[in-house]
Amino acid sequence: MRRTVAEFARHVVQLLYPSACLICEARGSDATSFRHGVCNDCHRSVTTDPFPACPWCAQTVGPHTDTSGGCAECRGVSLGFDAAVRLGPYAEKLRDAVLRTKVLAGEGLADLLGRTFAEARGAAIRAAGAELVVPVPLHWWRKWQRGYNQSEAVGRELAAGLGAAFAPNLLRRVRWTPQQSQPTREARRENVRGAFRLSRGARIGGKTVLIVDDVMTTGSTLGEAARTLRAGGAGRVVVAVLARR
Ligand SMILES: [Zn+2]
Ligand SMILES: [Zn+2]
Repeated sequence: MRRTVAEFARHVVQLLYPSACLICEARGSDATSFRHGVCNDCHRSVTTDPFPACPWCAQTVGPHTDTSGGCAECRGVSLGFDAAVRLGPYAEKLRDAVLRTKVLAGEGLADLLGRTFAEARGAAIRAAGAELVVPVPLHWWRKWQRGYNQSEAVGRELAAGLGAAFAPNLLRRVRWTPQQSQPTREARRENVRGAFRLSRGARIGGKTVLIVDDVMTTGSTLGEAARTLRAGGAGRVVVAVLARR
């Protein structure tokens, strides 16, 4: 309830002061200090990834780490997908931004983050050969509670920015999965097994599919989504996440 009130207040602030930054609420005195509704500081912060990332699982790695066979987190592990691109680590302004998208009033910000993602990492995602963009679906109950699916909003803008096809209804979430608090990778994988289903008539044979989510924590959910797409005939499956924990 408190959060609802806070969101409502934020919404009113946006209406009264349209130049308030969608992430930090700083108000710009002129249009040049803003970029698509976000102040320059926040824009710089969310688009600058301060660390190198593993090309397979998008986890932060040390500056001289050899990631040719994966990083400490994913080496020898069956991730389910072939590569992963992130906007940045789950920290600071990007973390704030992602948290703000998790409410109905955050939809405008989710759109914005999708466009920003396409601008900042479009080259890397295009290089992965993404042909079809598929957001990770929310369970219908969660979507109803939140009012929208933030990954779908990000994916739609990302697809538009990349010039790739967008397929928001390709994957369906058929099972509610409790929070991923299991201690082992095997247990987490078991927790999400069978959580997704491909919609009937999906034609993805041989295509390179880009799965979009807001946050990747252990990668188990994205791995299960990727396996579902693979079972349906997808070729390569690449993951794009706003933030990697
Ligand atoms: Zn800001
Ligand atoms: Zn890795």
